[in-house]
Amino acid sequence: MIDPTLLRQGNRRALAKAITLVESKLPAHREQAQQLLEQLLPHTGNSIRIGISGIPGVGKSTFIEAFGKHLIGLGKKVAVLAVDPSSPVRGGSILGDKTRMEELSRDPNAYIRPSPSEGALGGVAQKTRETMLLCEAAGFDVILVETVGVGQSEYEVAAMVDFFLVLMIPNAGDELQGIKRGIMELADALVINKADGESINLATRTQQHYQSAFHLIKHGNFWNPKVETCSALHKQSIDKVWDMIAEYHALALEHDAFYSKRARQNAQWMQKLIHQLLEQRLKQNPDVQARMAELQAAVINNTTTPLLAARTIVDLL
Ligand code: GDP
Repeated sequence: MIDPTLLRQGNRRALAKAITLVESKLPAHREQAQQLLEQLLPHTGNSIRIGISGIPGVGKSTFIEAFGKHLIGLGKKVAVLAVDPSSPVRGGSILGDKTRMEELSRDPNAYIRPSPSEGALGGVAQKTRETMLLCEAAGFDVILVETVGVGQSEYEVAAMVDFFLVLMIPNAGDELQGIKRGIMELADALVINKADGESINLATRTQQHYQSAFHLIKHGNFWNPKVETCSALHKQSIDKVWDMIAEYHALALEHDAFYSKRARQNAQWMQKLIHQLLEQRLKQNPDVQARMAELQAAVINNTTTPLLAARTIVDLL
Protein backbone atom coordinates (compact mmCIF):
# COMPACT_ATOMS: atom_id res chain seq x y z
CA MET A 1 0.00 0.00 0.00
CA ILE A 2 1.06 3.56 -0.60
CA ASP A 3 1.44 5.84 2.36
CA PRO A 4 -0.46 9.06 1.56
CA THR A 5 1.54 10.94 4.18
CA LEU A 6 4.82 10.03 2.51
CA LEU A 7 3.43 11.09 -0.84
CA ARG A 8 2.30 14.41 0.58
CA GLN A 9 5.78 14.99 1.93
CA GLY A 10 6.98 14.79 -1.65
CA ASN A 11 8.55 11.35 -1.40
CA ARG A 12 9.41 10.48 -5.01
CA ARG A 13 9.18 6.73 -4.53
CA ALA A 14 5.70 7.02 -3.07
CA LEU A 15 4.71 9.31 -5.94
CA ALA A 16 6.11 6.97 -8.58
CA LYS A 17 4.34 4.00 -7.02
CA ALA A 18 1.06 5.90 -6.89
CA ILE A 19 1.37 6.85 -10.57
CA THR A 20 2.10 3.24 -11.47
CA LEU A 21 -1.11 2.31 -9.67
CA VAL A 22 -3.06 4.93 -11.64
CA GLU A 23 -1.60 3.65 -14.90
CA SER A 24 -2.13 -0.02 -14.12
CA LYS A 25 -4.45 -2.14 -16.21
CA LEU A 26 -5.42 -4.36 -13.27
CA PRO A 27 -8.89 -3.56 -11.91
CA ALA A 28 -7.68 -4.08 -8.32
CA HIS A 29 -4.93 -1.50 -8.82
CA ARG A 30 -7.33 0.95 -10.42
CA GLU A 31 -9.61 0.57 -7.44
CA GLN A 32 -6.76 1.22 -4.99
CA ALA A 33 -5.75 4.23 -7.07
CA GLN A 34 -9.26 5.70 -6.88
CA GLN A 35 -9.31 5.30 -3.12
CA LEU A 36 -5.93 6.95 -2.79
CA LEU A 37 -7.01 9.80 -5.08
CA GLU A 38 -10.16 10.36 -3.08
CA GLN A 39 -8.11 10.57 0.10
CA LEU A 40 -5.69 13.02 -1.48
CA LEU A 41 -8.31 15.16 -3.20
CA PRO A 42 -8.39 17.87 -0.49
CA HIS A 43 -4.66 18.37 -1.05
CA THR A 44 -4.84 18.76 -4.81
CA GLY A 45 -5.44 21.76 -7.03
CA ASN A 46 -2.67 23.99 -5.68
CA SER A 47 -0.76 24.31 -8.89
CA ILE A 48 -0.82 26.09 -12.19
CA ARG A 49 -1.46 23.56 -14.92
CA ILE A 50 0.08 24.50 -18.23
CA GLY A 51 -0.41 22.64 -21.51
CA ILE A 52 2.45 22.83 -23.98
CA SER A 53 1.87 21.75 -27.54
CA GLY A 54 3.67 21.97 -30.84
CA ILE A 55 4.70 19.79 -33.74
CA PRO A 56 7.74 17.51 -33.37
CA GLY A 57 10.93 19.51 -33.82
CA VAL A 58 9.48 22.84 -32.71
CA GLY A 59 11.59 22.64 -29.56
CA LYS A 60 9.19 21.40 -26.88
CA SER A 61 11.72 19.49 -24.81
CA THR A 62 14.34 22.23 -25.15
CA PHE A 63 11.72 24.77 -24.08
CA ILE A 64 10.45 22.68 -21.17
CA GLU A 65 13.98 22.18 -19.93
CA ALA A 66 14.72 25.93 -20.03
CA PHE A 67 11.29 26.89 -18.71
CA GLY A 68 11.42 24.27 -15.95
CA LYS A 69 14.84 25.44 -14.81
CA HIS A 70 13.61 29.04 -14.79
CA LEU A 71 10.65 28.10 -12.59
CA ILE A 72 12.85 26.11 -10.23
CA GLY A 73 15.05 29.19 -10.01
CA LEU A 74 11.97 31.04 -8.80
CA GLY A 75 11.58 28.47 -6.03
CA LYS A 76 8.94 26.30 -7.67
CA LYS A 77 8.61 22.55 -7.97
CA VAL A 78 7.87 21.44 -11.49
CA ALA A 79 6.24 18.24 -12.75
CA VAL A 80 6.34 17.39 -16.45
CA LEU A 81 3.75 14.97 -17.79
CA ALA A 82 2.87 14.00 -21.32
CA VAL A 83 -0.13 13.01 -23.39
CA ASP A 84 1.16 11.21 -26.42
CA PRO A 85 -1.38 8.96 -28.09
CA SER A 86 1.20 7.96 -30.68
CA SER A 87 3.69 6.53 -28.21
CA PRO A 88 2.61 2.86 -28.39
CA VAL A 89 3.19 2.97 -32.14
CA ARG A 90 6.31 5.02 -32.32
CA GLY A 91 7.83 3.72 -29.13
CA GLY A 92 7.43 7.02 -27.34
CA SER A 93 7.75 10.05 -29.52
CA ILE A 94 7.78 12.44 -26.59
CA LEU A 95 9.37 12.02 -23.22
CA GLY A 96 10.01 8.35 -23.77
CA ASP A 97 13.67 9.17 -23.80
CA LYS A 98 14.61 10.81 -20.54
CA THR A 99 17.83 12.21 -21.96
CA ARG A 100 15.73 14.78 -23.79
CA MET A 101 15.56 16.86 -20.61
CA GLU A 102 18.72 15.78 -19.02
CA GLU A 103 19.35 18.72 -16.73
CA LEU A 104 15.76 18.99 -15.59
CA SER A 105 15.41 15.26 -14.96
CA ARG A 106 18.36 15.41 -12.55
CA ASP A 107 16.92 18.32 -10.59
CA PRO A 108 15.43 17.34 -7.21
CA ASN A 109 12.71 19.95 -7.72
CA ALA A 110 11.55 18.45 -10.99
CA TYR A 111 9.64 15.28 -11.71
CA ILE A 112 9.36 13.97 -15.25
CA ARG A 113 6.93 11.26 -16.20
CA PRO A 114 6.55 9.91 -19.73
CA SER A 115 3.16 9.47 -21.35
CA PRO A 116 1.13 6.45 -20.28
CA SER A 117 1.89 4.24 -23.22
CA GLU A 118 -1.14 2.12 -23.58
CA GLY A 119 -4.76 2.53 -24.50
CA ALA A 120 -6.97 4.92 -26.40
CA LEU A 121 -6.40 8.66 -26.19
CA GLY A 122 -9.29 9.00 -23.74
CA GLY A 123 -7.61 6.52 -21.40
CA VAL A 124 -4.22 8.21 -21.68
CA ALA A 125 -5.78 11.59 -20.90
CA GLN A 126 -7.66 10.13 -17.94
CA LYS A 127 -4.46 8.72 -16.45
CA THR A 128 -2.63 11.99 -17.00
CA ARG A 129 -5.36 13.92 -15.19
CA GLU A 130 -5.07 11.58 -12.22
CA THR A 131 -1.27 11.76 -12.26
CA MET A 132 -1.57 15.54 -12.23
CA LEU A 133 -3.61 15.32 -9.01
CA LEU A 134 -1.01 13.03 -7.42
CA CYS A 135 1.77 15.49 -8.32
CA GLU A 136 -0.20 18.34 -6.78
CA ALA A 137 -0.71 16.37 -3.58
CA ALA A 138 3.07 15.76 -3.57
CA GLY A 139 3.65 19.51 -3.54
CA PHE A 140 4.42 20.34 -7.17
CA ASP A 141 3.22 23.85 -7.90
CA VAL A 142 3.62 23.95 -11.65
CA ILE A 143 2.44 21.05 -13.81
CA LEU A 144 3.51 21.07 -17.44
CA VAL A 145 1.55 18.76 -19.72
CA GLU A 146 3.29 18.21 -23.01
CA THR A 147 1.58 16.99 -26.13
CA VAL A 148 2.40 16.62 -29.80
CA GLY A 149 0.65 19.04 -32.11
CA VAL A 150 -1.32 16.46 -33.98
CA GLY A 151 -4.87 15.20 -33.82
CA GLN A 152 -7.16 15.15 -30.86
CA SER A 153 -4.52 15.18 -28.16
CA GLU A 154 -4.42 18.98 -28.09
CA TYR A 155 -8.12 19.13 -27.27
CA GLU A 156 -7.65 16.57 -24.52
CA VAL A 157 -4.81 18.53 -22.96
CA ALA A 158 -6.49 21.93 -23.33
CA ALA A 159 -9.44 20.45 -21.41
CA MET A 160 -7.26 19.58 -18.41
CA VAL A 161 -5.08 22.67 -17.98
CA ASP A 162 -5.45 26.26 -16.82
CA PHE A 163 -3.35 27.71 -19.61
CA PHE A 164 -2.72 26.25 -23.05
CA LEU A 165 0.43 27.30 -24.84
CA VAL A 166 1.33 26.43 -28.42
CA LEU A 167 4.93 26.56 -29.54
CA MET A 168 5.64 27.52 -33.15
CA ILE A 169 8.65 28.20 -35.31
CA PRO A 170 9.28 31.41 -37.21
CA ASN A 171 7.70 31.07 -40.65
CA ALA A 172 6.80 33.19 -43.62
CA GLY A 173 3.44 34.85 -44.14
CA ASP A 174 2.23 32.37 -46.74
CA GLU A 175 2.55 29.46 -44.42
CA LEU A 176 0.43 31.17 -41.80
CA GLN A 177 -2.66 29.94 -43.61
CA GLY A 178 -1.60 26.44 -42.63
CA ILE A 179 -2.25 26.85 -38.91
CA LYS A 180 -5.37 25.10 -37.87
CA ARG A 181 -8.05 27.51 -36.81
CA GLY A 182 -9.01 25.11 -34.05
CA ILE A 183 -5.61 25.52 -32.45
CA MET A 184 -5.90 29.30 -32.51
CA GLU A 185 -9.17 28.92 -30.65
CA LEU A 186 -7.67 26.62 -28.04
CA ALA A 187 -4.49 28.59 -27.42
CA ASP A 188 -4.15 31.10 -24.60
CA ALA A 189 -0.78 32.02 -26.07
CA LEU A 190 1.49 31.24 -28.97
CA VAL A 191 5.22 31.27 -28.41
CA ILE A 192 7.44 31.57 -31.46
CA ASN A 193 10.51 29.55 -30.51
CA LYS A 194 13.91 29.63 -32.23
CA ALA A 195 13.86 33.43 -32.30
CA ASP A 196 17.64 33.56 -32.52
CA GLY A 197 20.43 34.06 -35.05
CA GLU A 198 19.16 34.70 -38.55
CA SER A 199 15.58 33.95 -37.56
CA ILE A 200 15.10 36.92 -35.23
CA ASN A 201 13.46 39.20 -37.78
CA LEU A 202 11.31 36.44 -39.20
CA ALA A 203 10.21 35.58 -35.67
CA THR A 204 9.10 39.15 -35.04
CA ARG A 205 7.15 39.22 -38.31
CA THR A 206 5.57 35.87 -37.44
CA GLN A 207 4.62 37.25 -34.04
CA GLN A 208 2.91 40.26 -35.63
CA HIS A 209 1.02 38.06 -38.08
CA TYR A 210 -0.34 35.78 -35.41
CA GLN A 211 -1.15 38.65 -33.10
CA SER A 212 -3.37 40.20 -35.74
CA ALA A 213 -4.85 36.80 -36.57
CA PHE A 214 -5.84 36.53 -32.91
CA HIS A 215 -7.67 39.85 -33.10
CA LEU A 216 -10.11 38.18 -35.49
CA ILE A 217 -10.91 35.41 -33.05
CA LYS A 218 -13.16 36.23 -30.15
CA HIS A 219 -11.80 34.94 -26.90
CA GLY A 220 -12.61 35.24 -23.21
CA ASN A 221 -13.68 38.50 -21.65
CA PHE A 222 -10.58 39.15 -19.58
CA TRP A 223 -7.78 37.63 -21.63
CA ASN A 224 -6.75 38.21 -25.22
CA PRO A 225 -4.35 35.51 -26.38
CA LYS A 226 -0.80 36.76 -26.63
CA VAL A 227 2.06 35.95 -28.94
CA GLU A 228 5.60 35.93 -27.58
CA THR A 229 8.96 35.03 -29.04
CA CYS A 230 11.79 33.19 -27.32
CA SER A 231 14.86 31.09 -27.83
CA ALA A 232 14.73 27.94 -25.78
CA LEU A 233 18.18 26.94 -26.95
CA HIS A 234 19.80 30.18 -25.75
CA LYS A 235 17.44 30.52 -22.79
CA GLN A 236 16.31 33.94 -23.98
CA SER A 237 12.93 35.49 -23.09
CA ILE A 238 11.89 32.39 -21.20
CA ASP A 239 11.10 34.68 -18.27
CA LYS A 240 8.66 36.65 -20.46
CA VAL A 241 6.66 33.49 -21.07
CA TRP A 242 6.32 32.84 -17.36
CA ASP A 243 5.48 36.49 -16.62
CA MET A 244 2.70 36.26 -19.18
CA ILE A 245 1.26 33.13 -17.55
CA ALA A 246 1.55 34.71 -14.10
CA GLU A 247 -0.35 37.72 -15.45
CA TYR A 248 -3.05 35.42 -16.81
CA HIS A 249 -3.26 33.65 -13.46
CA ALA A 250 -3.69 36.91 -11.55
CA LEU A 251 -6.32 38.19 -14.00
CA ALA A 252 -8.23 34.90 -13.98
CA LEU A 253 -8.34 34.93 -10.18
CA GLU A 254 -9.44 38.54 -10.18
CA HIS A 255 -12.28 37.75 -12.60
CA ASP A 256 -13.37 34.61 -10.73
CA ALA A 257 -12.50 32.67 -13.85
CA PHE A 258 -9.71 30.46 -12.56
CA TYR A 259 -11.60 28.04 -10.35
CA SER A 260 -14.78 28.22 -12.38
CA LYS A 261 -12.84 26.99 -15.40
CA ARG A 262 -11.56 24.05 -13.37
CA ALA A 263 -15.04 23.30 -12.09
CA ARG A 264 -16.31 23.30 -15.68
CA GLN A 265 -13.48 21.03 -16.77
CA ASN A 266 -14.24 18.60 -13.96
CA ALA A 267 -17.94 18.53 -14.77
CA GLN A 268 -17.18 17.87 -18.45
CA TRP A 269 -14.68 15.20 -17.52
CA MET A 270 -17.32 13.46 -15.43
CA GLN A 271 -19.81 13.59 -18.32
CA LYS A 272 -17.23 12.07 -20.60
CA LEU A 273 -16.56 9.28 -18.13
CA ILE A 274 -20.27 8.52 -17.86
CA HIS A 275 -20.39 8.01 -21.61
CA GLN A 276 -17.27 5.85 -21.54
CA LEU A 277 -18.56 3.70 -18.70
CA LEU A 278 -21.95 3.27 -20.33
CA GLU A 279 -20.34 2.21 -23.58
CA GLN A 280 -18.17 -0.27 -21.71
CA ARG A 281 -21.18 -1.75 -19.91
CA LEU A 282 -23.01 -2.00 -23.19
CA LYS A 283 -20.18 -3.88 -24.83
CA GLN A 284 -19.76 -6.26 -21.90
CA ASN A 285 -23.45 -7.00 -21.39
CA PRO A 286 -24.21 -10.61 -22.47
CA ASP A 287 -27.83 -9.83 -23.41
CA VAL A 288 -26.64 -6.98 -25.59
CA GLN A 289 -24.06 -9.22 -27.21
CA ALA A 290 -26.72 -11.84 -27.86
CA ARG A 291 -29.19 -9.49 -29.55
CA MET A 292 -26.82 -7.14 -31.36
CA ALA A 293 -26.32 -9.15 -34.58
CA GLU A 294 -29.99 -9.90 -34.97
CA LEU A 295 -31.05 -6.27 -34.46
CA GLN A 296 -28.37 -5.01 -36.77
CA ALA A 297 -29.61 -7.39 -39.46
CA ALA A 298 -33.15 -6.18 -38.91
CA VAL A 299 -32.03 -2.60 -39.47
CA ILE A 300 -30.11 -3.54 -42.62
CA ASN A 301 -33.14 -5.45 -43.94
CA ASN A 302 -35.43 -2.53 -43.19
CA THR A 303 -37.65 -4.60 -40.92
CA THR A 304 -37.15 -2.19 -38.04
CA THR A 305 -35.96 1.40 -37.66
CA PRO A 306 -32.50 2.25 -36.27
CA LEU A 307 -34.09 4.11 -33.38
CA LEU A 308 -36.28 1.19 -32.34
CA ALA A 309 -33.34 -1.19 -32.54
CA ALA A 310 -31.10 1.16 -30.53
CA ARG A 311 -33.79 1.52 -27.88
CA THR A 312 -34.16 -2.24 -27.60
CA ILE A 313 -30.44 -2.53 -26.99
CA VAL A 314 -30.31 0.22 -24.38
CA ASP A 315 -33.36 -1.17 -22.59
CA LEU A 316 -31.42 -4.40 -22.06
CA LEU A 317 -29.07 -2.61 -19.64
P1 GDP B 1 10.60 18.69 -29.84
O1 GDP B 1 10.55 17.58 -30.82
O2 GDP B 1 9.47 19.65 -30.05
O3 GDP B 1 10.70 18.24 -28.42
O4 GDP B 1 11.94 19.54 -30.18
P2 GDP B 1 13.38 19.52 -29.50
O5 GDP B 1 13.39 20.24 -28.22
O6 GDP B 1 13.88 18.12 -29.49
O7 GDP B 1 14.22 20.39 -30.54
C1 GDP B 1 14.35 20.05 -31.90
C2 GDP B 1 15.59 20.69 -32.45
O8 GDP B 1 15.47 22.12 -32.44
C3 GDP B 1 16.84 20.37 -31.65
O9 GDP B 1 17.92 20.19 -32.53
C4 GDP B 1 17.05 21.62 -30.79
O10 GDP B 1 18.39 21.84 -30.45
C5 GDP B 1 16.54 22.71 -31.71
N1 GDP B 1 16.04 23.88 -30.96
C6 GDP B 1 15.20 23.85 -29.93
N2 GDP B 1 14.98 25.11 -29.47
C7 GDP B 1 15.71 25.93 -30.25
C8 GDP B 1 15.91 27.36 -30.26
O11 GDP B 1 15.38 28.13 -29.46
N3 GDP B 1 16.73 27.85 -31.24
C9 GDP B 1 17.33 27.05 -32.14
N4 GDP B 1 18.13 27.63 -33.04
N5 GDP B 1 17.19 25.71 -32.13
C10 GDP B 1 16.39 25.15 -31.20
